[in-house]
Order: sequence, then structure tokens, then C-alpha cells
Amino acid sequence: MMGDGPVKVLLIDDDEDDHVLTRDLLAEIGRDRFRLDWAPRFEAGLAAIRRQAHDVYLLDYHLGEHNGVELLRQALAEGCRAPIIMLTGLGDRDVDLEAMKAGAADYLSKRSLDARLLERAIRYALERARTLEALRESEERYSLAARGANDGLWDWDLRRDEIYFSPRWKGILGFTEAEISNRPDEWLGRVHPEDLERLRADLAAHLQGLTLHFENEHRLIHRDGSFRWMLTRGVAVRDQDGKAYRLAGSQTDTTGRKVYDGLTGLPNRMLFLDRLASALTRARRHPEFLFAVLFLDLDRFKIVNDSLGHALGDQLLIEVARRLESCVRIGDTVARMGGDEFAILLEEVRDISDATRVAARIHEALSVPCGLDGREVFTSASVGIAMSATGYESAEHVLQDADTAMYRAKSLGKARSEVFDEVMRERALIRLRMESDLRRAVERGQFELLYQPIVSLGSGRVLGFEALARWRHPERGLILPEEFIPLAEETGLIVPISDQVLRAAGRQMRTWIEQLSLERSVVVSVNVSGKQLAHGDFPLRIAEALAASGLPPERLKLEITESAIVENADSAAALLHQLRDMGVGIWLDDFGTGYSSFSHLHQFPIDTLKIDSSFIGKLDQTGSKPEITRTIVMLAHSLGMEAIAEGVESAEQRDRLCELGCDSVQGFLFSPPLTPEAAGDLLAAVPVW
Ligand code: C2E
Ligand code: CA
Ligand code: CA
Repeated sequence: MMGDGPVKVLLIDDDEDDHVLTRDLLAEIGRDRFRLDWAPRFEAGLAAIRRQAHDVYLLDYHLGEHNGVELLRQALAEGCRAPIIMLTGLGDRDVDLEAMKAGAADYLSKRSLDARLLERAIRYALERARTLEALRESEERYSLAARGANDGLWDWDLRRDEIYFSPRWKGILGFTEAEISNRPDEWLGRVHPEDLERLRADLAAHLQGLTLHFENEHRLIHRDGSFRWMLTRGVAVRDQDGKAYRLAGSQTDTTGRKVYDGLTGLPNRMLFLDRLASALTRARRHPEFLFAVLFLDLDRFKIVNDSLGHALGDQLLIEVARRLESCVRIGDTVARMGGDEFAILLEEVRDISDATRVAARIHEALSVPCGLDGREVFTSASVGIAMSATGYESAEHVLQDADTAMYRAKSLGKARSEVFDEVMRERALIRLRMESDLRRAVERGQFELLYQPIVSLGSGRVLGFEALARWRHPERGLILPEEFIPLAEETGLIVPISDQVLRAAGRQMRTWIEQLSLERSVVVSVNVSGKQLAHGDFPLRIAEALAASGLPPERLKLEITESAIVENADSAAALLHQLRDMGVGIWLDDFGTGYSSFSHLHQFPIDTLKIDSSFIGKLDQTGSKPEITRTIVMLAHSLGMEAIAEGVESAEQRDRLCELGCDSVQGFLFSPPLTPEAAGDLLAAVPVW
């Protein structure tokens, strides 16, 4: 409405002479300051008002069969925001009152109309409309402040530098009406020294027009000498040149429920949810109003924090906060949700591409390393995006979906963004259901073990079994480990599940030893997840499982992947040595796929390398080179370890492995994973081939 160009005025008047008169008066004030259009009839006037192309309307009371107040009422009912000034002629008594009641911004008598009067009326009407608009907007935005009838009010006359403080404002600080004057110092002089600078900066920014609203949370000293947190919000009223001459707002006591984050100065979760709720309300009322929420989680922040120390971690968070703020527009909200999580509310976006563009800006802004204490620290973030168009009921739901999308971004490799969609909602639901099912499965012991034989290439005998878990789901039947182990790891349920697996495998092995009175030392191997190694009490749990099942420790082998060891680099060596000292064997699983840091193989007390099936599959392809397999076998032997080949499916593969000197094999060629009964039968009938 307030461009730099001329003020656009529409005269709605059926009298041609009045049009000429008004045009001349406006020209007298200044030709380039006003542009006058003319609508001579009710219908034309209403049509023009609907187009919203004017800043102010001058409306004659006489309009053919209609009268101006009818048009005024109609225009306001249709949501016209621009001020309407009523013009009255001779003998239109009481029209002024009727017009003001109906919502006219002002009224002018044509008889006494002159340039000065007309100019003042237009200026005043425009200013009033602007104030109303600003207050309306701030009310919409600030439901939190509007909620409390308990809020104090203040109104700063910037020209005279006086502040009106409401009795409630004074009461919040423990003072009575007469005890506080209208000097600004009554406020600013009570601000906690640590908060003053930011308050002044926020005030200045708003007065300069850099922010749409003034908002600051700071501590004020109460009459009783204690500091109380106050959330202060306000909006400036500006003159035609944009210069603020008034600043008015509210003050809420937020002691005990702060809404700003102390470290970064960003709004916190509570304030973010409040703004999000306001945006939702607005979107419901104005369907064309779209907003987007970005949920952001720093990648690997924990590593930075642990390795560089918390002071530098804090600095990094502050730096990230500043960069995020630089990526959004005035009026958008950047909040710290806790830890290394941030959320952004983008208001008035046109479509999803606006949101993804901001996300792209964020990735770029974060890609520049942060100089912290003379060090260059790299950081990145995973971002999830949710759009309001999805028809949300509550702020929490929007945030939840953005969070789900963020997790998707993480799982797709971090440092990227994902937009929430229906598929994700579906997937998130399935996951949630799986998670609660899995919890129940742990309580009810719904896991079963299959045993896949491991066969010695030299003797052709079964030297042991790998215990492989299955989940017997009451509705879905048997579920394979690929489907539930990752979820179990994420939720921490892997620990109780593994306890059950260990005990069951131990019990089973002991039963076989006793029933079949086996002379050979057949072993059972159990898979161990990296998450289990992360717990310092892992060896203790193994000892307990062995004791509970009565299995001698040397009959148990733990299959651990290299990546599980690397994930727990600090503690792994000590843990593995503890296990070795207990007599338990360590097998390195999926060998050759991960980091294959051959160099520190010797640091760990490893008995056996299990060559990953991906190398075995290639062995019988014509022309393929068995180099890698040969190297692994040689490496194992030179370090005093054995080699077991996994996924052996064909006789050619077996023969090749024999030639390469591999010790043992496991795979469908000999047997798939078997039920305990079938495995027991196999043990009784030796040798297998
Ligand atoms: P893994 O440790 O590499 O186990 C070997 C997988 O290869 C098993 O799949 C097995 O059935 C399959 N397999 C055996 N022989 C052949 C063959 O000749 N050809 C092919 N294509 N596959 C063969 P499974 O039972 O589905 O287990 C998958 C993975 O789940 C295991 O991979 C292991 O990492 C994990 N897992 C299974 N049980 C447990 C458990 O109790 N705890 C933990 N932490 N992980 C487990
Ligand atoms: Ca394994
Ligand atoms: Ca394996």
C-alpha cells in the first residue's frame, strides 16, 4: 500500500463538478503526490474497491438510488482494508455519525472543503489504517502475548521520549501506579546489564525498519531486588517517510518459562511452537497463506563437542545460529529446539521450491568452515521440510513431520534435505508400529534361532553353527534380521534381544553337548552389534549369559564386524581383550567389506576372519581373479588366525577355496540355516559329506 509513488485516491461520486473540484484541490497540494481516479456510480465504485488498487477512497454520500453508507458497509464486509473517507453535502445531517459508526475513517463536509483539510484527512486516515494493520498483524502473530490479560502495556512517544506504562506493567515489577514515572529510564534502567546490549540492538533494528516486530526477552529488576524474565513485544507506528514516532507493545512475565534460548538468543521451542500455531491459524483463515517448517539437525555435532570441548561446541552453535538467520527473510523465525537441533518457520512461501531454496542456502552457508579458536571446524546439517498445504491440525504435527523428513535426510547420507510426503508418513507409521511390536516381542520372547553349520574343509565335519535370529511376529509370521536388527539397534532394543539370543544359543549348545555326548569341541557363534560394544558392561553380560546357560566360554564365538570395532575405537581393544581373557573367541565378520584396516588387525585378539560372501560369489565366474580371497586367507594365516568363507553356494567355489587354503566354509551348498532339531540331527550324523 505504501509505495514511494503518489498516493492513489479513488473518488466515488456521481457529480462531475465534484470530481473536477477534488482534482483541483489535490493538484494544489502537489501534483506528484496524489493520483486521482474517479468512479461515478455505486457499482463501479464497488468493483474498484474489490480490485484493491487504491490507497484511500473518498466516498460521496449521494450515489443515485444508493447512498454512500451502504457502499461503505458493503466494502468493509468484503474485507476492504484501505481507509474510506465519507464526503457529505449540505443538509446531510447526522450522516457524519452514521458514517463513523459504520466504519468510515473520517468524514468531510464538501462545503468547507479546502486543500489543507483534504490533505490532512487523507494523511491521517492512511496513518490510522497503517497502525491498525500493524496491530492486527502483531496480534495474529503474537497469540502468546495476546493470551495473557495479565500483560503489562507500554506506549512510547518517541518524539517526546516519554513512555506510558500501564498499571499492570508497574505491578509486574512490584510497584504501584504513582511510583513509576513516564521516563524511558524506568524501563531501561532496570534491565539486567547482560541483557541490555541485545535489547538496545533489537529496539534499534526495529526502529530502523529492519524487523517487522520488536521482540526481546530480558531480565528486569523487581522491587524486591530479584531479577525477573520479561518478554516484551511491540510494533512501531511510522510517518509517511517510514520514520517511527511511536512504539507500543506488551510485557509478559516469563520467569520460569523463558521463550528465548540463552546461548544463541534465538527463540526456543516453546516460542517456536507458539508462532507455528499462529501461522496455522492464519493459514486456516486465509487458504492462500502458505508456510513451511524446516527441521534441522547438525551432523556429527557430538563428535565436535566431545573432541573440541563444550566451550567450542557452544561457539559453533552460536555461529550456526547466525548463519541460519542470514539465510531467511525478515519475519521468518529461526529457533533453537535444544541441543544441536534448530527449526525454521518460513512465512508466506509460494510453494515448496521456496522452502527447498532456503534449505539449499543453508547447506551452502554451513559449508564454509567455522574458525573457532584458530581451528577450522566443518559442519553440516540434515534438514527435513514440511509444508502447510498438507492441512495440519496442530503445530506439533507439523514439527513431527519435518522431524521425520529430517531423519530420512540423515539416513540418506546426511548434509541434505528431504521434503515430507505421504510415503514418509506411511513409513513413519509402519516404523512406529514395528517399534512397539518389537518392544512387545522382547517382553514375550518372540525370537527364534536358526543354526547354520560351518564345515571344516579338511575333515568335512561340522565344526560349529552360526546362530541367526528370526522374529516370529504374531500376524506377519517370520521376519528376517535385515528388517528388525537396524530398528533394534536404533531403539537400543538390540541389547535385550542379544541377551535372549546369547542365552538361547548357549542353552542349545549345551543341550547338544550333553545329549549327543560330543567328543569334538563343536562351537556356536553369535552375532554382536556395534551398539552392544558401546556398553562397557558387555563382557559382564556375556559372562552372565554363559553362566545362565552353563556353556563353557571356549564354546562361544562372537562375530563382530570391523565397522562395529571402528565405531567403538576407544574401548574396543580393552573389551575384546577382556573377552579373550574369559576364554571367549572373537571372529571378525563380513571381512573385506568395511574399513579393512589391515594395519591394526594385530591389535585385537581375533581368532578367525569370516570372508564376506561378496568375494565368494565371484570365485566361480570364468576369468575372475581370486586375488582378494587369496590375500585374506594368507593374511589370516600369517597372523595366526583361521579363515572361514561365507555364502558358499557351489561346488566350484568350494574347490577354489580348497586350493586357496581356506580353513572352513559356510553356505547353502552345505546347508541353509536350520531349525534346532535339524541342526541336532546333522550333528549326530557325521561327517556331512
Ligand atoms: P551375517 O552375519 O553375514 O549372516 C550370514 C547371512 O548370510 C545369514 O542371513 C545367512 O542366512 C545368509 N547365508 C548363509 N549362507 C548363504 C548362502 O550360501 N548364500 C546367501 N546368499 N546367503 C547365505 P540372515 O540369517 O538373514 O542374517 C542376516 C544378517 O543379520 C546377518 O548377517 C547378521 O549380520 C544379522 N544377524 C542375524 N542374527 C543376528 C543376531 O542375533 N544379532 C545380530 N546383532 N545380528 C544378527
Ligand atoms: Ca555373522
Ligand atoms: Ca557375515
